[in-house]
This record gives sequence, structure tokens and C-alpha cells, in this order.
Amino acid sequence: MQSIREIFKIGRGPSSSHTMGPERACASMKNQYKTATAFEVTLYGSLAKTGEGHRTDYAIRQTFGEIPCHIVKNTQKTDLPHPNTLEIVALQNGHELARQTFLSVGGGDIRLAGEERAVGKAEVYPESSFTAIRALCEEGGVPLAAYVYRNEDGGLRRYLNEVWEQMKATVRKGLHTEGVLPGGLNVKRRAMELRQTGRREHNLIKKENFLISAYAYAACEENAAGERMVTAPTCGASGVVPAVLYYEKEMFGYDRDELVDALAVAGLIGQLIKTNASVSGAEAGCQAEVGSACAMAAGALAALHGRSIAETEAAAEMAMEHCLGMTCDPVGGLVQIPCIERNAVAAMKAYNAASLAEVVYDNRKISFDMVVRTMYETGRDLSSRYRETADGGLAKLYAEQ
Ligand code: SF4
Repeated sequence: MQSIREIFKIGRGPSSSHTMGPERACASMKNQYKTATAFEVTLYGSLAKTGEGHRTDYAIRQTFGEIPCHIVKNTQKTDLPHPNTLEIVALQNGHELARQTFLSVGGGDIRLAGEERAVGKAEVYPESSFTAIRALCEEGGVPLAAYVYRNEDGGLRRYLNEVWEQMKATVRKGLHTEGVLPGGLNVKRRAMELRQTGRREHNLIKKENFLISAYAYAACEENAAGERMVTAPTCGASGVVPAVLYYEKEMFGYDRDELVDALAVAGLIGQLIKTNASVSGAEAGCQAEVGSACAMAAGALAALHGRSIAETEAAAEMAMEHCLGMTCDPVGGLVQIPCIERNAVAAMKAYNAASLAEVVYDNRKISFDMVVRTMYETGRDLSSRYRETADGGLAKLYAEQ
């Protein structure tokens, strides 16, 4: 299993698979073929259908800079190695130098077509299931965060500190920014208003729900605006983990080291999902993006509160279990509706799962590994209409009205 650095990438929104992935593929071709005088990029599948809303064209042009680049969108071809496929041709004075097909497999990672491993990624964990990790840690009395540090390189804690600093900066900026998000849907930013509401007293609705939601909105609104953020595990699902950790810091005063350790656990859960299933909405629907983020956040909360590994597993398993079947149908192909609201609801759900796990963690019939496999199989069974194509669900009905 690869490093948890692959789960937390610091960059710009709004989409890890539609902006960060293509950006990396184009950078790879640009670096390999330095004498190229032009490039041609063909986008297929979800990249072709929702690339405009996700700002894929912009990311590609930014990467090639001064070098001319022709972008083609092919929505007809369906026999693809991955729902997010792009082919890049390097040209020199009109003659083809090279041609490579890349798959943007989620969370900003890319693979060359026909290859198993992501480009430039090493395996750092010998174990690749929660069951194996749990057995090892329980036998040796090793907390999950310590297991992560033992396997990763010495710079991981420093990197996670950077990740946490960026998450906090993103939430803070989002909480202080008003206005309308770009893209034409006229979606108003709501984070500031939610936080103000959360600071007042309420009889019926718990005020913490407003605050947790405010933090999730803040992170997601920054992502939707194309600002700096951290994937967790993707851009679209980047509000859930920061929301719960920011709330914990504000309400209970957890310190930086404790929050960074919780991030290590969240990253481990995310990497297990990415290794054994997918974190790509185009591949397995929103259950793979926001569902994974919800499981990461629930596990992080359990670990942060000093719960056992069994309780942490139950929290993550429950969070994912109750996101099963969640479709991806972004209105207008933008990472705004239902994405932003969905992150807030998932953050609140992570609290419910972590709370429930505290009592019902023993004698569980469903393991985390089992629910991850279920998520993947369910995702592969979903019609492509519900896998980031904006052809079905809310996207379709909104377009028809
Ligand atoms: S619906 Fe979910 S998976 Fe789809 S773009 Fe939005 S956050 Fe990502």
C-alpha cells in the first residue's frame, strides 16, 4: 500500500480527478518531450462530459503554458480503460513524437493505460487490509497513528503538519468570504452565515451542527472557487475531515500533535479504501468520495478521543456503510450541488458513527474491509449516469426544468 501522502494533496480545486490528475498527466508529457512544439489532448468519459464545469481545460492550458495545445472532447467512445481517460499526443512541427493514454484514477493520481501502479508511486505498507493492520497493532499494543509513522518516511509528521495548516487556512478563509461561486449556477456562499447561526442559541437544532456544517461549507466553497485546499481524499470531498478536526480544535482544544495523529489515522483509512476500492466519483459514485471522507473523519474522531482500534474500525465501517449507494450527479458538472451540502451532512454523520461505535463496536458482523469491497462492487454496478457524467439524477432534472 502506498503512502498516505497520496490521500492528502495540497493544491487548487475544484476537482482532483478533473484538474489535478490531467495537470499531472500533461506535466509528465511536457517533461518527457521537451522538444515538442504543440500538444493535442483528447478527453474521454467523465472528463469529456463534466470537464468544462470542473475546469479541466483551464488546468491543461495552465500546465502547457506558452506551448500551443488543442483540446478535443470525445463523449461518444464508451469502451474506455477508466471513466476518466485522456490521451495526449506530443507534436513537433506537425509530426507526432509520442502518444500516451493516462487514466485519472481519483485523488489526483494518474496511471498509464495498461499499468497497475500509479505513475511514480512506491509501496510503503506491507499490509493492505484493516484486518491485517488491526491484528498486528493489537498484538503489539501499537496505536494506529504509530503504525503509520513506523511505515512512512521520517518526514511524514512534518508533511501532515503542513496539511493541517492548509486545512485550517482554507476553513478560515472560507469562513470570511462572502459572494457567489463561479460557474454560472449562482450558488451563494453560506459558510459565514452558518457560523453566525451556530453561535446563537437554539432550542430544537443542536448548535454544533451549524458550526460543523459551517466548517465543511467553508472548505468546500474555497475548493469550488478554485482556491488552495487539501484533498481528503479528493477535492469534491475536501470538507468533511477539516470540518470535524476544526470543530474538535475549537470546542475541545485538541493540540496540533493530537490533530496531526488523527489525520494520520484518517489518511490510513483513506489509503485502505483507495487501495482496495476507489476514491473516484467517476469510478464508483459519491460513496467513493464523500463516503470515504465520512469514514476517514469518523475513524479520526474515534482515534482522537482515545478509542480502541476496534472502536475506530467500527466508526469508519458504520460511516461508510451508511453512505453506500450514494450517486454522483453534480448539477452543471460543477463541484457545488449537491457536493458542498453533502460534505456538511457527511461531517455530521461522522459524529453519529463515531458516537454509535463507542457503544456497539463489539460483536460487529460487518468489517471495514467488507464494507469497502461492498462499496466498490456497488459503485461498479452503478449506471454511468450516476458516476460523474452529469447525465442523471439532480444534474439531469435540473437541466430539464
Ligand atoms: S457528487 Fe460527490 S463524487 Fe460527485 S462531484 Fe460532487 S462530491 Fe464529487
